Amino acid sequence: MFDNLTHRLSGVIKTLRGETRLSENNIQDALREVRLALLEADVALPVVKDFIARVKEKAIGHEVMTSLTPGQALVGVVHQELIAIIGGEKADLNLATVPPAVILMAGLQGAGKTTSSGKLAKWLMENKKKKVLLVSCDIYRPAAIHQLELLANQVGADFFPVEEGQKPGEIGAAALDYARRHHHEVMIVDTAGRLGIDEAMMQEISELEALLRPIETLFVVDAMQGQDAVNTAKAFSDALPLTGVILTKLDGDARGGAALSVKHITGKPIKFAGIAEKLTGLEAFHPDRMASRILGMGDVLGLIEEAQRSADQQEAEKLIKKMKSGKAFDLDDFKAQFQQMRNMGGMSALMDKLPAQFSQAAQNVKVDDKIINRTEGIINSMTKQERAKPEILKASRKRRIAAGAGVSVQEVNRLLAQFEQARKMMKMMNKGGMAKMMRGIRG
Ligand code: GDP
Repeated sequence: MFDNLTHRLSGVIKTLRGETRLSENNIQDALREVRLALLEADVALPVVKDFIARVKEKAIGHEVMTSLTPGQALVGVVHQELIAIIGGEKADLNLATVPPAVILMAGLQGAGKTTSSGKLAKWLMENKKKKVLLVSCDIYRPAAIHQLELLANQVGADFFPVEEGQKPGEIGAAALDYARRHHHEVMIVDTAGRLGIDEAMMQEISELEALLRPIETLFVVDAMQGQDAVNTAKAFSDALPLTGVILTKLDGDARGGAALSVKHITGKPIKFAGIAEKLTGLEAFHPDRMASRILGMGDVLGLIEEAQRSADQQEAEKLIKKMKSGKAFDLDDFKAQFQQMRNMGGMSALMDKLPAQFSQAAQNVKVDDKIINRTEGIINSMTKQERAKPEILKASRKRRIAAGAGVSVQEVNRLLAQFEQARKMMKMMNKGGMAKMMRGIRG
């Protein structure tokens, strides 16, 4: 899968040399290669365009870390953007509702709905210890109902027996009642698919959706479908309030374009991937792992990570040296700290690395990425003198800073309070815990 992308990027790494900064000029050829590789992998054109624009925006002006070549740095940017376009963070299945949590499976015939229903039942029983009921509403293909029954038996899930002549809506309603009475925690509903998008099919599944009010409506799509997957995804996401995607047959020789397009088109995260025909062949989907797999450059990605780690380490050491030298901790240091947190994977990642005695104090400095950006914005609106001496920040200065950063004065105050907390924490660490903390961060 995506062999060409790996191949073409390897070429790029060799040709992009001797530059310390990525620029519009030096990445042009490289971007052309990426673009071609994506098109060859059957990624939809609008997705390719958007992707290239994003990589370009991120890459231009990007400083190349000393231990990397410019080509490697560009691969790093491509990797980050791949993760973002595939879905960013891993998205979990939502089951938080009054039981039974209904999961509705939607998709074309042959996409892998029935198989995935059985696999998902197994996954939920094993990983979430759930009592699962499998239901088939595919009345047009008795063989499909029977197939689901066999799967239910194989994985040890309960199966809802359909009576002859029942309509999908009747099956759904009866199954829901059955699940409630038998205390099933999850009810997975397989639906009829057609070979192509079809009005009647959409109507039927929309009615089922309205009746069952599923907490998850998963669009099942075959990774081998390539460009067609985009049209199908669009039609389903227009007709149904999808909550996620199951991407099947990733084990096949698919060119893999669907993996990149589907999140972009539906706006919904890929939650599971089918990776084998057998019933164990379903796994929770990790965008970062998928991106690394698509790029297929484990060695280069390792190098980039290592360079980032050592850059972080240098920053941390600089900061600590400064603190040790007795110079007061100011708002510029605070900002540097926030940026570092982001590089290290956010506050929670940093928390994990701190010894317990500091975590308590640090609890008061709760941050996420959004807050990091806002914090930077506010500090950037301050003058040099204000950053060095926050004591001089009185009401009128605060108003000016708030207006400059586009936030309220309360937010400026909140930031200053956080800064005070951090300053206290720094003092505390300086008193004796420094060596310990450094060890913690290194570990
Ligand atoms: P449905 O019509 O959407 O219910 O599709 P099925 O569940 O009947 O699947 C169609 C075919 O794809 C079957 O032969 C499945 O065994 C196969 N299949 C489904 N998911 C996967 C997968 O992740 N990997 C592989 N290799 N085959 C799969």
